[in-house]
Amino acid sequence: MDIKKTGYNFTYFFIALTLLLLLQEGFKTQQSIVVPFSEFKESLEHSEVKEVIVSNDEMRGILKKPREKDKKEVIVTTRVEPELISFFEKFNVKYWKKVESTVFKDVLSWMLPVFVFFAFWMFLSRKLMSQGGGSFMSVGKSKAKVYVERGIKVSFNDVAGVDEAKAELQEIIQFLKEPDTYGKLGAKMPKGILLVGPPGTGKTLLAKAVAGEAQVPFFSISGSEFVEMFVGVGAARVRDLFEQARKQAPCIIFIDELDALGKARGMSPMGGHDEKEQTLNQLLVELDGFDATLGVVLLAATNRPEILDPALLRAGRFDRQVLVDRPDKSGRIEILKVHIQNVKACADLKLEEVAALTPGFTGADLANLVNEAALSATRAQREYVTLEDFNIAIERIIAGLEKKSRVLNKKEREIVAFHEMGHAFVAAALPGSDKVHKVSIIPRGIGALGYTIQRPTEDRYLMSSEELRDKMAILLGGRASEKLFFDSISTGSADDIVKVTEIAKSMVVRYGMIAELGHVVYEESSGKFLDSYVGNQKYFSEDTANIIDKKVKEIVDQAFEKAFVILKKNKEILQKGAQELLAKETLEEERLKYYFSFIEIEKRKD
Ligand code: ADP
Ligand code: ZN
Repeated sequence: MDIKKTGYNFTYFFIALTLLLLLQEGFKTQQSIVVPFSEFKESLEHSEVKEVIVSNDEMRGILKKPREKDKKEVIVTTRVEPELISFFEKFNVKYWKKVESTVFKDVLSWMLPVFVFFAFWMFLSRKLMSQGGGSFMSVGKSKAKVYVERGIKVSFNDVAGVDEAKAELQEIIQFLKEPDTYGKLGAKMPKGILLVGPPGTGKTLLAKAVAGEAQVPFFSISGSEFVEMFVGVGAARVRDLFEQARKQAPCIIFIDELDALGKARGMSPMGGHDEKEQTLNQLLVELDGFDATLGVVLLAATNRPEILDPALLRAGRFDRQVLVDRPDKSGRIEILKVHIQNVKACADLKLEEVAALTPGFTGADLANLVNEAALSATRAQREYVTLEDFNIAIERIIAGLEKKSRVLNKKEREIVAFHEMGHAFVAAALPGSDKVHKVSIIPRGIGALGYTIQRPTEDRYLMSSEELRDKMAILLGGRASEKLFFDSISTGSADDIVKVTEIAKSMVVRYGMIAELGHVVYEESSGKFLDSYVGNQKYFSEDTANIIDKKVKEIVDQAFEKAFVILKKNKEILQKGAQELLAKETLEEERLKYYFSFIEIEKRKD
């Protein structure tokens, strides 16, 4: 509801009402004339009056024929109290009771409370506005909150260390530059592109750079701003945003913190949040009705893609995701190069050394680092920023960062490197496993200290028992490698063993893959992947339960053994690989191939 508009409506209503009352009054006086009571009485006595109408405070006499002097047909007089009549009769005077027009009084008595109410309303809204509750009066029109930037100066040169993301966005720039060419061929751009990565990795910067490169307007809004207090406001804002953008195509719409808005429905602990749901629905509606050939490109950023409503990620919506991850060492060097331009650095400062000292830093952390180093140099009254300043600044920042995000110490990084390489080596040694395409020890997301990315070569719907066992061996490769090289195991494999246990349990109780137990399912097929089957004891006897427990452990043990043997055979080359991973932080497919070429592929039993 647009409150301001309603305000106008009220005012118009009152003006109309006043006019009407005045008009009615005027109409009344047109044909009638107000006369003194004495004159009215006279007319009656001369039987000029055909009919008398008595109301609360007046009497109207309808004349038989219009009066001679003014042609009026009706005479009106006020009611005078009877005792006064006989009193005035004696003196032979004109007498009447004054009629007070109540029109203005009536109107005023109507309007005054409304005006008081209005004043109170304004006062309240001001107060709410100043408390940051969002604009209260300009509800439907959200121009104040939609930021439009034109003539953006940011270019791809300002964004460093995210080459993959840049490559993915290159096409979007081409499209924005010549939407007609793309439209002619019927090519459709992806409707929404989701930039996924931890805070400070340059997602906003990237989106801006796309606008800067293509020289188009940049509409930006943050998902958290949609969390308004009135239901419907957010939805109106979304509609407004798209409307404005459509008028200015080609352009970019950037929604920061999409997760604040697109949180999976029903996930809120307070139950359904109507407002967010409406806003989200509106966004989905806009996305669906969005003509991608128009030249409007929607970019959004989130650091928690896992909590997004699946509806947002469906084909035809945010169907392309671009990973903007923490930079590796070479990436950090590039980012430092960008930011060092703003300060006077000492000529023999080696950025490589700075990069080596800052694993886990994001682009924003590095920008901050350069600034801190410059401050330190200023404090020390140096002419140039030196490595010494960077050391001071790093210490200062790491103390703060350790709380915020994970910055690993040397020993931990070593363990993570061997762990990840362990996964990769086992995967490489087992035939038919998914290809390992990247190994990294850059901490990422919640819980993951490093990661190994396997790319499936084809979609799989069926898996043999043997393949499941291989999969478990790969998952346990990390832990096996830790055991092999450090003769101890760490908590770093917690996630791995959860997955392994799930697979093993499924093999036993769901897939009927254990000869001893037969082709029998020992688990309710309802609910999630393997709810606790212990609760479903009624389906099997105590003895069976024992066998299940034993078999699950046996399968896992065998998988671990398999991984351990493979790694032991390739210990030397694994050590080299892990050392290189430690130094470079990320190893891509090409480099991994070199190491894998030394590995002897295991033979399948079946
Ligand atoms: P995000 O949106 O991912 O949280 P921002 O784009 O807001 O991160 O980054 C904040 C700042 O950090 C940028 O303005 C820029 O100065 C710096 N920064 C972040 N990533 C990079 C990068 N890849 N290259 C250069 N500078 C970066
Ligand atoms: Zn692992």
